[in-house]
Formats: sequence, C-alpha cells, structure tokens
Amino acid sequence: MKKTNDITADDSRWLAVETRDSRADGEFVFAVKTTGIFCRPSCTARHPLRKNVLFFADPHGAKEAGFRPCKRCQPDKLAPEQQRAERIIQACRIIESSPDPLTLEALAARVAMSPFHFHRLFKSVIGLTPNAWQKALRTQKLRDQLAQGESVTRAAYDAGYQSGSQFYHQADAALGMTARQYRQGGERVAIRFVVGACQLGEFLVAQSERGICAILLGNTAEALIAELETLFPKAKLISDDDGFAGRVAQVVSFLERPSGHFDLPLDIQGTAFQQQVWQALRAIPPGETVSYQKIAERIGKPGAVRAVAGACAANRLAVVIPCHRVVRNDGTLSGYRWGVERKQQLLNIEAGQRKE
Ligand SMILES: [Zn+2]
Repeated sequence: MKKTNDITADDSRWLAVETRDSRADGEFVFAVKTTGIFCRPSCTARHPLRKNVLFFADPHGAKEAGFRPCKRCQPDKLAPEQQRAERIIQACRIIESSPDPLTLEALAARVAMSPFHFHRLFKSVIGLTPNAWQKALRTQKLRDQLAQGESVTRAAYDAGYQSGSQFYHQADAALGMTARQYRQGGERVAIRFVVGACQLGEFLVAQSERGICAILLGNTAEALIAELETLFPKAKLISDDDGFAGRVAQVVSFLERPSGHFDLPLDIQGTAFQQQVWQALRAIPPGETVSYQKIAERIGKPGAVRAVAGACAANRLAVVIPCHRVVRNDGTLSGYRWGVERKQQLLNIEAGQRKE
C-alpha cells in the first residue's frame, strides 16, 4: 500500500497521534524517519517531531517502506481489545458447531478465560449473553427445520432441545407460538393492531400474545395494514381500537420522544444475526448516529456490512429498535424503511431533545 499524501487526512491523523487516541488504532500507523520505527496512534512512547513522521494505512505498508514495528505498542499485532474480540468470535464458532448447548464454564474454558470475564466480554462484543445467543441460534435452527417440514420432535431434537417437555416450554417461548402452530404456518396466532396519527405521520402498533411485535410508520392507514399483512402473512390480524389503548399511548409518546423511557414487552422475532444487530442498535443513544460499518465491527463481524444493512431494513419496530440512527460512513443518510424524510425528522427531533 502507498504512503497517503492527503493533507487534511494527515492532519487529523497527527491530531490522533498527539492525543494518543486509541480509537484510531487499526485505522493507520505512523513511522518516524529518524528512528526507522513505526507505531500505532495510541503508542505511549515520546512523540517525534511532526516533520519526521510518515503515515501508512496499515503495518504492511510501513514494513514495505523499510520501517520496523515499535516494541512497546506492537503496531503489527492486533490491539488487545481486538485480540479479546477474536476469542469471543471463536466462542461463537464453537457454539455454532456444537450439537448440544454448552455451559458458560465449558465455553469459557475453551477460549481460556474465566467464566466471569468471558460472560462480561461476550455481552459487550456480541450484545447478548452467551446463553441468549445460544437460545437465539437454536430457535433459528428450529425455525429452519420446521419450515423444511421436519417433524416437531425431530426438529426439536436436532436444534439441541433435550427432553420433550423442556422443548415445548422453551420452543414456545422462543417462537412466540407453539411449535405445531409454527409448523402450520402460524395460522392461529392472533395479532391485534391499532392505526392512528402522530407527529411522524400515520402509525400502526401491533401486538401478539408476547408483546409489541410491530411499530410501523407511513402515510396512509391502508398502506400500513398492507405492510402488516406482508410481515405476518399467516397470522389472524384483528383491528382492535381499545384492546390495548394504554400500550399504544405509550408507544406513541415514545415515537414523539425517543429519548424517553420504553419498557413495554417486545415480541422480537428474527434470526440470531438480526437479533444481534438489533441489540447493537438499541445501544446507540438517542441523538447519536453510527455507520453500518461500525455496527458490523461492534458485533464482531466487520465484513458483514451489507448483512447489517439488511438486518436494519428488516426491522419491524420503528424507533424502539432505532435503525434510523444508522447512517453511511460519511454521515449522510441512507435508506429508511419508512422514508428518508422521516429518518431525518426523527434525527432532528432527537438532536433537539438532546439540547434540552
Ligand atoms: Zn510505539
């Protein structure tokens, strides 16, 4: 890779070096002409003079130009957090390939960490606890197999549910309906919904027996109901204006004030990957935006940017799962399931509430 010559980019790189900004680690390295050594931006060694510094996009480029890695900051190795994240990703692979559920202790031992540290780190990298992640994966496996027409007990067994009765309890909770209903296409599942108007336009709030399962935004009630039908093709949709009016009021007040508190039960259904992305989205504070790339990095899958965008687009819970806080790398707005203008409007509302 070539040395980069962009003046403004180099100025901001130099600023990162001067402030030892560890967020810049991995973004570039800097080399010192007088010593022949290159460092990561956060290196704690004494700073060289600006005029003796060259920037490289990665350690490989610096090495090619004849520089040696600093022994103190080891710029050619992964940063310590990245090394830890690698271990968590390794743990995910172990879970994915294990036919049986694994205990926290067993998993921690496989990646040579204490159960306590492993649990904490897993949660911070993946956004779900190891247990929740295993459950999400099993549910996904179960869904896939039931969809392929496997018998209920066979599918349960293959998905790692051990005994029959345990399965029926856990699978019901995971699928939001009984496994038999799921196999039959979820025909008997009832979803109640309310349509109304709020500051953001028309809204639709729907709930299953488990909790709020859809919050949609749009321009007409007809379009919203059509969207709900597409999302839950087999469910029995029931228009219900006063069945859960209290909950609907809470949702609407949250739509208009996304920095407020939201604690209604949610019925979040998606693949393990989607759930992981949605969890990461819920961790973005109101008034802030994050790029698709950053979300991919936060869930430990830096190469999965397009899949992250796909998961954002598949979100059914507007604002509560704040996919509107995800933007392009350069900060400009990308698409939004419920319209780019509405996305902008939401970000404006949040920016305003932040200043209050
Ligand atoms: Zn160094």
